[in-house]
Amino acid sequence: MSSYTSNLLHFLDKDGNIPQDIHPEGKKMASFLTSVVDKVSASFPFIKTSIETGLKCGKKNCQEDIIGALDNINQPIHWYCMKCGDNGTISDWKGSQWDHSKKIAEDNPSKKQAG
Ligand SMILES: [Zn+2]
Repeated sequence: MSSYTSNLLHFLDKDGNIPQDIHPEGKKMASFLTSVVDKVSASFPFIKTSIETGLKCGKKNCQEDIIGALDNINQPIHWYCMKCGDNGTISDWKGSQWDHSKKIAEDNPSKKQAG
């Protein structure tokens, strides 16, 4: 079982994109992390502890579903594999292009009064 502590910003360039010239392993991790952020933040404001990300564990001979969790919108996103126990946290995901929480908050009809 492995634990990963990831800062999303470390995988992005200054414009907030995944760099084209990133190392293949880094790119794999970056696309995994951004997918987790994408799925988990889309569940906002329904903070849940078991969000299906649709991703599969990257570990050899595992391929189990990856579950995401978000206890608090201001905290790192957690993810874990139900089978092998690999897990990690993703910090600095807020404000990235994969962060849906802001978008969803803006779509809230009660906040559209000012128009
Ligand atoms: Zn696994």
